[in-house]
Amino acid sequence: MSSQNSGPSGLLSLRHSAEHVLTQAMLRLYGPNKFFMAMGPATDDGFYFDFEPVNGFKVSEDDFPKIESEIQKIISESLPITKKELTLAEAKKLFADNPYKLDWLNAIKNRDEKIIVFYTGSDFFDLCAGPHVTSTDQIGAVKLLSVAGAYWHGNEKNKMLTRIYGTAFPSQKELDDYLHNIEEAKKRDHRQIGKNLDLFSIDDYVGPGLVLWHPKLSIVREEIETYWRQEHRRHGYQYVYTPHVGLANLWQKSGHLDFFHAGMYPPMSMASKDPDDQNNYYVKPMSCPFHIQIYKSRPRSYRELPIRWCELGSVYRYEESGVLHGMLRVRGFTQDDAHIVCREDQFIDEVNRILDFALEMNRTLGFSQLNTYLSVRDLESKSTKYVGENRVWELAESTLEKILTDRQISFRKDVGGAKFYGPAIDLKAVDSMGREWQGTTIQLDMNLPARFGMIYTGQDGQEHTPIMLHRTLLGSMERFVGTLIEHFAGAFPVWLSPVQAEIIPITDNQNDYAQKIASVLNDQGIRVEIDDKSETMQNKIRNATAQKIPYMLIIGAREAASETVSVRQRDGQDLGTMSINEFIAKVKEQITTKSLNLIK
Ligand SMILES: [Zn+2]
Ligand SMILES: [Zn+2]
Repeated sequence: MSSQNSGPSGLLSLRHSAEHVLTQAMLRLYGPNKFFMAMGPATDDGFYFDFEPVNGFKVSEDDFPKIESEIQKIISESLPITKKELTLAEAKKLFADNPYKLDWLNAIKNRDEKIIVFYTGSDFFDLCAGPHVTSTDQIGAVKLLSVAGAYWHGNEKNKMLTRIYGTAFPSQKELDDYLHNIEEAKKRDHRQIGKNLDLFSIDDYVGPGLVLWHPKLSIVREEIETYWRQEHRRHGYQYVYTPHVGLANLWQKSGHLDFFHAGMYPPMSMASKDPDDQNNYYVKPMSCPFHIQIYKSRPRSYRELPIRWCELGSVYRYEESGVLHGMLRVRGFTQDDAHIVCREDQFIDEVNRILDFALEMNRTLGFSQLNTYLSVRDLESKSTKYVGENRVWELAESTLEKILTDRQISFRKDVGGAKFYGPAIDLKAVDSMGREWQGTTIQLDMNLPARFGMIYTGQDGQEHTPIMLHRTLLGSMERFVGTLIEHFAGAFPVWLSPVQAEIIPITDNQNDYAQKIASVLNDQGIRVEIDDKSETMQNKIRNATAQKIPYMLIIGAREAASETVSVRQRDGQDLGTMSINEFIAKVKEQITTKSLNLIK
């Protein structure tokens, strides 16, 4: 199709128009009395259409082929798409029986924008300013993907509408490639793999967005945390532990109650327990104020700086239920947090050290490609609040930019990505599907130290305010490990694998030998499991492969007699027979080097 539809803005017009053709197709098929059109935007990967079904109308995925063929018909009719500006009165008359459009019209009027109606052919019209293509035959290929419920304006207090998701591309080939990628992504969906491999669950009784780590995934986390601690010690950090809750006064002082209130769980009132205690406590959304209070617990000298304190700090943030997603968007999570308090002359060096540390840790954990973003303020946005002086912000933003430029790291600016207290450098990990995941963040804070009255005595004997950096290398354990599941499709590197070797006795006669090998491997710190179920060897191999266990040690009469094992990898490769010691040496080498590959 025409090249004008291939760029991002072309795709947007194309998908916007495809969504309207979906609506038109449904009107043709079901008539005007079955649903109220509510809204239908184009998105990054397609479009959706929200409507309120009436008179017992229902749409399911079974109806998609029928709707899709009507869409194709409208596309082949090459109907012109034209637009027209209306007055409020004209528009209100046109949409008199649709409460959603009347709602839109009022909103448009309040924003003092033009009222634009478009026509597809002569009989279909809707309220929308576009952008659109100029004729339906420019739309190319359309596919409907799923049906879901969605609240009007995403608000739980509003009516539940029906949403149809779809996507559109200039050509069938591009659509097919996209659908293939979706299938791949589904196979890697950490929620499905989490179920199949018994890794984690989220339970209605516990609460949405709160992750229960099952034993197997807890091993993965424990290994990462052990590595994380070792490396932090090596990089000159000290650990601290801080409480999960803190008094309202603390969060008032830190600015969280003013700037981060919507993200916090409501306060816990102590008055019912103790009428004399009128204090409220808040569950912590961040650990920073606690670390600051440790800093302030005694006078500090310039000689002590930089201070690098780290904590695997569990925090809670109230995310809207609509955005919760498995382990990737949650309400309770453990940050791999650290705060660096330093002098001005140490600051650039500290940021560079963190960048080096982040690259090294991400690479070890399987992410060699990282995309860099500089998160700055959105000066246009009136809804976002930033604390502190403009002058300080400008200096902070330009200093971080200079660090990246000096290192010759190419980066993109994320306008509006800054936190309320400062700008940041974000490193997003690129996974095996080419998708980006938020991981490392290095935030400069030129606000909290002054706000909390943090000081140190300088070489000049005077009091100075230090600079503070907030940083995480992995982000949170929940999001990072969720990402890791998708990245490796559940097949973790050997050092992280919950079970590293599955021992498969061919008959019951080898069970004693299986026990013996298990205890030898266990003594060597290799995690093993014996599959002594009365099943065929082929079934046992299939099960262990499905469980993504890196190695299967198959033992029959011959192996038992010669004290060897026959080794198979989860990728299907047969490594042949080797002595137990040989196998131990190979696996231990992989574990100690944190190898991302199997033996062969
Ligand atoms: Zn539109
Ligand atoms: Zn912090």
